[in-house]
Amino acid sequence: MQSKRTVNAIIENITGGASSAHAYIVEGRAGAARDAFIKDLAMGLECLDPDVSARPCGRCAACRQVAAGSSMDIVRMQMSGKTGYKTEDAAAFAERLDMGAYGRFLIGVIDDADSLSETVQNKLLKTLEEPRGNVILLLGSSNPDHLLSTVRSRCSSVRVQDDFEEEEESAKAEVLRETARMLYGGRAFHEFRDALEKSVKTRADSLMLIQLAEDISRDRMTAGEDPALMAVRLELCEKARADMEQGMDRSRALKRLYLELKDSNTRR
Ligand SMILES: [Zn+2]
Repeated sequence: MQSKRTVNAIIENITGGASSAHAYIVEGRAGAARDAFIKDLAMGLECLDPDVSARPCGRCAACRQVAAGSSMDIVRMQMSGKTGYKTEDAAAFAERLDMGAYGRFLIGVIDDADSLSETVQNKLLKTLEEPRGNVILLLGSSNPDHLLSTVRSRCSSVRVQDDFEEEEESAKAEVLRETARMLYGGRAFHEFRDALEKSVKTRADSLMLIQLAEDISRDRMTAGEDPALMAVRLELCEKARADMEQGMDRSRALKRLYLELKDSNTRR
């Protein structure tokens, strides 16, 4: 899993002194994945396992406290306004962070940094600028562009992808693979054309489609299919790519590739 490795890399950087950042923007859509990442990060910082590369271990007393939400070292900024944080919230947060840690770190969490007004962000600058040695701030944000550049410049950034985005990506990849199989042959032109219209939206998609068709050729060559024919098919793919690079409309280039691949099959 991507997130466990990322968490551990950050923990190792902080613990080993490789990163001097005291604040991290955890960028990702609001929801379970971002929350879990922030929790894992807090757990990893507090974790008592002597092996840094194993943090968070999830088993030690510190990890269990963070997991249970009972750690005294996790300070969440409270939102007292209906739609956002108030300056009093920032003041109380900063004051609480002055009190020092019980465990390894004192971790200040701002769950939804997107709802910080400019005034509140300015109020937080001092805390971001002069944190005490073992204070780490974690800011969850769906779009860091909404944060002041003065805030962003004081933070490191880490991107979290949620399950939905991961699923969307793999579903999209599967549709492209299916379209590539149609491009490669055996299906009626109108079926390929419909799939093309539905699944290939960008130049990057088109290039991926050509690459997938090349992969099919290479796989078949490895599996023992007529190497001369496979070489011709690879050349046709390369030609379609060159056509696109020279400005040919991508839909036209791909439809032509379909026809040429079909032709190469019947001509053997
Ligand atoms: Zn632990």
